Amino acid sequence: MRAILTFHSIDASASVLSFDVRLFEFLLAELARKAIPVCDLGTLLADDTKKGLAITFDDGMKSVFQNALPLLREYQVPAHLFVSSGVINGDCAPPPWPANSPTFEMLDWQEVEALQLAGVRVESHTHTHPDLRSLAANQVVEECERADEIISSRMGKKPDYFAYPFGYHNARLREIVRGRYCACVTTELRKLGVTEDTAALPRLDSYYLRSRAHIRLIDSPLMQLNLMLRNRMRNLKGSQCVADQD
Ligand SMILES: [Zn+2]
Repeated sequence: MRAILTFHSIDASASVLSFDVRLFEFLLAELARKAIPVCDLGTLLADDTKKGLAITFDDGMKSVFQNALPLLREYQVPAHLFVSSGVINGDCAPPPWPANSPTFEMLDWQEVEALQLAGVRVESHTHTHPDLRSLAANQVVEECERADEIISSRMGKKPDYFAYPFGYHNARLREIVRGRYCACVTTELRKLGVTEDTAALPRLDSYYLRSRAHIRLIDSPLMQLNLMLRNRMRNLKGSQCVADQD
């Protein structure tokens, strides 16, 4: 299998955005046991890569530094961190969290730099984390340019990858961001197919891996079926936007 995993916070609160730290360690151990390589996105998306997982963290919660980083180091696996530069700067508020979520503390730039030093690639999740569908083209470009400039100046390297805020995207947005990044990721819930539009790559939300039993089944046909059904239900409910209208 080839898939991109999405995490937000690594903590014990059991919120919908949280993945337990012991379970995160179990996942890394299980992937090693199953000989499923954890690779960076460039390697995962290369033509000759047939098997692997990439780890992504969205939004930039402080728990990624506190709880995930020691395990990423211990297991020596890469990861990508999608940050909204304005949120890390403190210029704007974090995105609204789902009901019953704790108030997540966010990373500061020193912690983001420490993550980068440990091999975590810092990527763009826009500057202010807006619903891009509501913005004019020049405003979308500005969101990307500001984030790219700030991340470049802080990290010494422009982001290679982009995550749509809330996973919301459409044909108009894909064409605006396509040329700016090596690839853009969404919240469409499935593993990678043989061919994919690099402006809208699917990911597996770790929410659906929140038990040891589910993690053990990660590469099984049963898990694929489970995810396919859940993806269909999410599309029916309209909880993600893959619509092509502007
Ligand atoms: Zn986000």
